[in-house]
Amino acid sequence: MIEELLAHNKEWAAQRVLEDPNYFKRLKDLQSPRYLWIGCSDSRVPANVITGLQPGEVFVHRNVANVLHPGDLNGLSVLQYAVEVLRVEHIIVCGHYGCGGVVAAADGLRHGLIDHWLRPIMDLHERFEPDLAKLPDARARLDRLCELNVEQTVMRVTQTPVVEDAWLAGRMLAVHGWVYGLEDGIIRSLGPSITGTTGAAEQREKLGG
Ligand SMILES: [Zn+2]
Repeated sequence: MIEELLAHNKEWAAQRVLEDPNYFKRLKDLQSPRYLWIGCSDSRVPANVITGLQPGEVFVHRNVANVLHPGDLNGLSVLQYAVEVLRVEHIIVCGHYGCGGVVAAADGLRHGLIDHWLRPIMDLHERFEPDLAKLPDARARLDRLCELNVEQTVMRVTQTPVVEDAWLAGRMLAVHGWVYGLEDGIIRSLGPSITGTTGAAEQREKLGG
């Protein structure tokens, strides 16, 4: 019931103050997260919960299948605010295996408006079809497409003027590609973090984007 959510909230707030009388005062006065999380909207992949981060410690942007379109005003505004104002040091792109958005991008069916949103994943699917076809079964192909989608969003993040400018200014800013497993709750890293334009160019070459 919806009333239970409000009741739980009251209990939660009371518990925080019991543990630390200054908890909300501190949070109210200062937002200085070190991390920007770009993840999927899937209810099973909540950024704070699976990384053990508290309120105030991670700035979060989530959408269906953790995509970043070149003209996505919402995602790009979040990115700019996080990098230029909050001055985060890490950008984490975290997808997950079994992602419904990735499945929808690969099943060849029509789903309405969401197909436009998922277009970058459909393009990836086509581009990597020869590699994916070598994998043993449909599950393995979808898992790999989930990983490729994370790698593509990492690439898109590194191609933005916001991130390029931060690197040109000599700022420490690392972009990480992660995939979360719904079955075991474990996050896997998809390779070295990207910390400058050289790494970004290598990622671009790998994905052919
Ligand atoms: Zn998902």
